[in-house]
Formats: sequence, C-alpha cells, structure tokens
Amino acid sequence: MIYADNAATTKLDKEAFEAMKPWLLDEFGNASQPYSFARNPKKALAESREIIASCIGAKPEEVFFTAGGTESDNWVIKGSAFSDSDHLATITSSFEHHAVLHSCEAIERLGYPVVYLAPGYNGIVSPETLEGCITPNTRLVSIMYANNEIGSIQPIKELCAVAHRNGALFHTDAVQAVGHVCIDVDDLGVDFLSASGHKFNGPKGIGFLYCRTGVELQPYMDGGAQEKRHRAGTENIAAIVGMAVALKRNCDSIEENKSHILSLEKQLLGALSATGVPFKRNGGEETLPGLISLSFSGYSGEAILHRLDLAGICISTGSACDSVNTEISHVLRAIRLDSGYAKGTVRISLGKNNTAEDVERIVAALARVVGKQSH
Ligand code: PLP
Repeated sequence: MIYADNAATTKLDKEAFEAMKPWLLDEFGNASQPYSFARNPKKALAESREIIASCIGAKPEEVFFTAGGTESDNWVIKGSAFSDSDHLATITSSFEHHAVLHSCEAIERLGYPVVYLAPGYNGIVSPETLEGCITPNTRLVSIMYANNEIGSIQPIKELCAVAHRNGALFHTDAVQAVGHVCIDVDDLGVDFLSASGHKFNGPKGIGFLYCRTGVELQPYMDGGAQEKRHRAGTENIAAIVGMAVALKRNCDSIEENKSHILSLEKQLLGALSATGVPFKRNGGEETLPGLISLSFSGYSGEAILHRLDLAGICISTGSACDSVNTEISHVLRAIRLDSGYAKGTVRISLGKNNTAEDVERIVAALARVVGKQSH
C-alpha cells in the first residue's frame, strides 16, 4: 500500500508511540491529584507544554491542550463571539476548513455577523481584500495558514497586521502547517493559532490552541480546573506526550523533511508532465510541501481515487464534499475553478515517509487511469 494522503492524517511516529506507552500503563495517575503518584504525569504535562511552546516560539502558559484542530477552531470562533455583548463581526474566508466555517455558521444563527472573504484564483486571501472589508466593528479575523485541499499558504503576517491596525484580533487555523513549515507566533503576530497532533505524526484526538498572553480567551469546557480553568477534563497525558515528541522530531528535521518532500513533488510533477497527460495544478505559487492538488479536465476525481485505491494507492479527492454528494467542494468553488477541471480534481499529499518508488507508482497508476477513463 502506498499512503499519499498525509493531509488527511499521518502515521504515528515510532518514538512518539514509545514515549506514550508508560503513561498508558504504569504511570496512569491523574495529573490533578495532590499525591506523589501524580507527580510524574504532572511533570510530563509541564514538559510537553514547554516542548510544544518552543516549537512555535510561544511561552508554555500560552499553550492550551484540546482534543484536536476542530475543537481549537470551535473554541476561538465561538468563545470570541460569546464574550462579546456588542455582537461585533467575525471575518473569515470562504475556503476555510469546516471546523471554522460551521462554527461561523453557528454564531451567525445566534445573531453574530460573519463576513466571508473570497480568495483569488491562486488560492490566496489578499491583505487588500481584508483591508476593503474590515471595519472598527470587526472583533476577530480568522484565516487559515495553509488550505487543506489546495495547499496555498496565506500571507498571515500581512493579514494579521491589517487586523491589528483595525483593532481586531487574529486567529489562524495552522492545522496543515504546524510541524511542516517553520512557525513563529511572535514573528507572525497572531493572537490565536490552532494545531492538531495527527497532522504531524502525533496521535489522533489531541491538539492545542495557542493564545497570546494578555488576550482574553473564554473557557471552552466547564468542569474541573484543568488548563487554567479554561478547558476542563482530565488530561490525556499519553496523547499530550506523544504529540510533543512528534512535533519536536518534525521541527528538528523540518528542513531535511521539506527538501525530501519537495524533491518527490518535483519528481511527481515532472514525470506526470512527461506522460503527456494534460493536467492543471491548483494552489498558486507557494504551497505546502508535498500537497499537490491536480485537476484533469473532463475526468471524475472520485473515479480516479477509486481506481488508484484498487492499485493500492491512497489519495484524496478535492472535488466531493462527501462520498454521496458529488458536488464540487467549497474550496474549488471559492477559487472559481472551471467545473470541468473541478470535477476531475484529486489531492495527493506526500509525507516524510514517502519514497521515489512511491512516486513512480503513483504517476504510472495516474497515467494509466486517466488515459483509460471516459470523458
Ligand atoms: N483545520 C484544518 C485546516 C484541517 O485540515 C483539519 C483536518 O483535516 C482540521 C482543522 C480538523 O482537525 P482535527 O482532525 O484535529 O479535528
């Protein structure tokens, strides 16, 4: 099996797995308890927070553990709205992940206004577009760091500066980027940042939210006093430790991984071009390493995905919202991709574990499948 769907999830790092084991077996104590058996879990929690903070240039007290990217996004969008009796506006983009979009729709239903910015054809939300919509009545701007379907990297530093100049806070959903490109929250200037363990070779069901010191953050979950009374619930020490180890390992070899993945990406695009199959790559000039959105005009993305599955290759389709509904995805609609191309879109996302042989097989299968399919 060739796994080329790393934007959906990644394989758990072996060292992260080994680091998790003791917290599941012998060291199972509840970190909130006062006795000495809780000392080690408590220490592991603090050390993991420090490791994660250092990977994104944050302070440990600015990192809040969550159950993943979805929860982090919900927390910021809803928490920010619910703390605001003036019902100021939230600005986001129309091609965010549904964790942000559906949270925005939820606050809209409760009477909080939301403005959806359109990205350009290149998959970029420009600072000028934001400048044209932001007003003194904007509370929060939320723009993703990199799009999960087409990989386009957003000008976060510039967008954040526009938000701050206009008195608004700035959140970025960096779920696809953390652990894959260098991120420094101080350099970016963001107030909130969402991340998810399973996207950078950590375990599933764990993530974190960065919240800048001094910025108000409403508690998300009511209950115990965990996470400075902001996110109640007994901490999942094993998952937190695994996430910290995985992130540190990815960040320590970020350049090495990037150059390996970029060379595979170059190989894939070169070999595919050499087959003579016409295709279009989506996502503009600067995309996440290895995230390749390809459109084959007149073909069906679903059919390509299933044929590749039969050949033992996992990729994703960028054209369907779900397996039943064959509508064009909201991302491809947002970049106004011609519907002929949009329907024939697939996402190949290469990771650090992929090899040149994987790429050869993917290209051979693609050429075979796209060559055979009826229009
Ligand atoms: N945001 C983006 C950009 C994503 O790609 C994903 C997952 O695909 C999420 C949020 C949700 O993250 P999680 O699976 O950790 O809930």
